Amino acid sequence: MKKIKIGIAANILIVEGGMLPGIYRSYVNHDYVECVEKSGGIPILLPVLSDLDNVKSQLKGLDGIILSGGYDIDSTLYGEEPTAGQGFSMREIDLFYLAVIRAADALSIPVFGICKGMQAINVAFGGTLFQDLKIQGKNAGQHLQQAPRQNAFHHIEIEKDSFLGKVLGEREMVNSFHHQSVKGIAPGFRVTAKAFDGVIEAIERNEGTFMLGVQWHPEMMARFGHEKMTMLWKQFSHKCRK
Ligand code: MN
Repeated sequence: MKKIKIGIAANILIVEGGMLPGIYRSYVNHDYVECVEKSGGIPILLPVLSDLDNVKSQLKGLDGIILSGGYDIDSTLYGEEPTAGQGFSMREIDLFYLAVIRAADALSIPVFGICKGMQAINVAFGGTLFQDLKIQGKNAGQHLQQAPRQNAFHHIEIEKDSFLGKVLGEREMVNSFHHQSVKGIAPGFRVTAKAFDGVIEAIERNEGTFMLGVQWHPEMMARFGHEKMTMLWKQFSHKCRK
C-alpha cells in the first residue's frame, strides 16, 4: 500500500526550571505520532512558523494534516474579549494553526483537528467558542476528567449520516480533557456529535476539502488499543489516500 505523508501541527512548550528555563521547545505528544504511523502514514512534525507566508510551502507534498491539542485559543481571534474563564494562550501558535487550515484548504489536503485542533477549524471559518464551559455553558457537565487519558469518560450522540457516524455508530463513550468548546458553529460546517449535556463534540465540513474536528482525544484511546478509535485513524488515512 502506498505510504502517505501526514503532517502533525506541533506546539510550543515553554520549559520551566532545569538548565534552560524559559526556552521554547517544539513538540507533539507521541500518541499522535504512533497513531499516524499505525494507520499507514508517515508522520511529519510541523513546527510553529513565525513567517506564515511559509506555511503553504511547509504543507506541499503532504497527504493529510493532524491538528493536535494545546492551549486555549486567543479569544480575540474569534471576536471576543477574554472573560474570567479564558486560560493560557499563545497567539503565535493560534495564528499558525489558522494559517495551516487555510493552506490545507487551498491545497485540498484533508484535515483532522483534535481538541484545540477542532476549535481552530471552527474559528478559521468564522465560528466562536465558549471560553469556559463552567461559566458560559448552560448546565454543562464535567469535561475535565481526572481518570487516565485512555479511559472513556462521557457519552456522545453521533449523527448517523456523517463520516463519524459511519465509523463510530450513533453512540460512543469518549475521554474528555477540555474546558472550552464550540459555541457558534462556522458557516459551511455541521455538528456531528454532542455530549450528554449538549456540548459540541464533533464538527464536519459540508463540502470542499475534508475537515473533521473532534473534541476528545482519539489518539490517546487508540494508542491503548480502543478498536473504534483505531478505526477512526484508519478511516482518516483512507480519506488522505484518495
Ligand atoms: Mn467532552
